[in-house]
Amino acid sequence: MNHNPAHQNYAVIGDPIEHSLSPVLHGAALKACDSNATFSKVRVSPQELPLFCQQARDGAYSGFSVTVPHKCAIIPLLDELTEEARIIGAVNAVVVKESKLIGHNTDGRGYLKSLLEEFSLDFSRMNAVLIGAGGAALAIGHALCGTSPASLTLVNRTRENADILAAKLQITHPEAHLPTGSFGDLNRLCEDADFVVNATVLGMSGKNWPDLSFLNALPETAIVSDIVYAPIETPLLTAAAARGLKIHHGDGMLLHQGAIAFELFTGKKAPLEAMRKALAEAL
Ligand code: NAP
Repeated sequence: MNHNPAHQNYAVIGDPIEHSLSPVLHGAALKACDSNATFSKVRVSPQELPLFCQQARDGAYSGFSVTVPHKCAIIPLLDELTEEARIIGAVNAVVVKESKLIGHNTDGRGYLKSLLEEFSLDFSRMNAVLIGAGGAALAIGHALCGTSPASLTLVNRTRENADILAAKLQITHPEAHLPTGSFGDLNRLCEDADFVVNATVLGMSGKNWPDLSFLNALPETAIVSDIVYAPIETPLLTAAAARGLKIHHGDGMLLHQGAIAFELFTGKKAPLEAMRKALAEAL
């Protein structure tokens, strides 16, 4: 086990783990910072998770990213949780500090940074539509509620899950206006929307949208955002661009959630351009 702070080890854990782009992002960042730290992919099964956490606490790692299926399951194994991670109920980055494991969630902040990097937005005037009600939607919904939008409409295939998401967000944002709907309501709900973001799996290869006609209902000035990043040019964004709408790609969220995690792990400013370049080459 490595207790030498001159040789920091970082990792991403998940099961499966082969697909993870975290080593690309963090490896590029460490290299750009002239660091001799390592960042590895570690396949950790659910049964192995407690042992991995103990090894990290004992000094094997200075920080690690967390992906499927451990984002929620790891919470009881941690010593501390940021308020953001507690509210979201999921952790994607763990900092090891003085033998304590501290869980963070950087997805929502990463998404917002990516959006604001490309667009100058006055959220207080915006009617936003968030499609999806899973883990990513909760992180993004939490981040968007923090900007006090005029309304945030939550739409999901399973309407009940949109209602559950609204109830969760309403606890921390009691002032938020959070209507809900199902896919059948999308055309109507998009008529006065300034912004639509997809946080479902639709658009990933093999997961086809049943209907994209809601894009025709959007005002011409609307922005369409997709957090799916494989492929980068998703069917949603291709159709939105063909309609002349402004579009926002999913790789930006991936980049910025990783950059925030890098800063938490190392205390160094993330070398964003090196990370962006490495990600673009990998995607
Ligand atoms: P999740 O918790 O499993 O949620 C899945 C969501 O997709 C739910 O809203 C679910 O609706 C919906 N869905 C699943 N199959 C569907 C179908 N056939 N038709 C319509 N809706 C369907 O997943 P997640 O972790 O939130 O991730 C969602 C997506 O975000 C994934 O594509 C993931 O790759 C992407 N993501 C991107 C980033 C990034 O950095 N860019 C970060 C995190 C996640 P129901 O409630 O009806 O099942």
